[in-house]
Amino acid sequence: MSGKPAAFLDRDGTLIDDVGFVHKRADVRVLPTVAEALRTFAGAGYACVVVTNQSGVARGYFDEAAVHGINAEIVARLHAADVKVDAFYFCPHYGDGCDCRKPEPGMIQRAAREHGIDVARSAVVGDRGSDIELGQRLGIPGVLVPGPAPYVGPEPDFRARTLLEAAQWIVRRGA
Ligand SMILES: [Mg+2]
Ligand SMILES: [Zn+2]
Repeated sequence: MSGKPAAFLDRDGTLIDDVGFVHKRADVRVLPTVAEALRTFAGAGYACVVVTNQSGVARGYFDEAAVHGINAEIVARLHAADVKVDAFYFCPHYGDGCDCRKPEPGMIQRAAREHGIDVARSAVVGDRGSDIELGQRLGIPGVLVPGPAPYVGPEPDFRARTLLEAAQWIVRRGA
């Protein structure tokens, strides 16, 4: 498939502080270097697409409106920094049976269809094994940013200290 490359970005622990099932807008803390990372991706022609597992919905901890609320808060904070995310996708499910809970590739496949993304030239960034495994299943790089220790999952293609480092590695690799 032709199209532009994308950076498929995890949300909690990658764009914002992972406080555990974050669902209150006041708890949104955008991580350092995120704005500069998004600028790096955009400058190199990458779409920035958030793909996030939000099993708190299926578990009954919060509803889909809360997920949209957090996403809207992120949009607002990024707007203030003059950067943006191109699209948000989330999986509200828990347990087996859906095709979108990472590491299942459903969210990326949907994003590719809806936004004309060339998955083969794209990459995944996240703080957990499911993010890295998602990249591997699609045959594209999985870049790890710091998250829960010890890390459990397949060996990432690159371990970045920040999202900006991840962006620089991905953009350089794709050039
Ligand atoms: Mg995460
Ligand atoms: Zn799902």
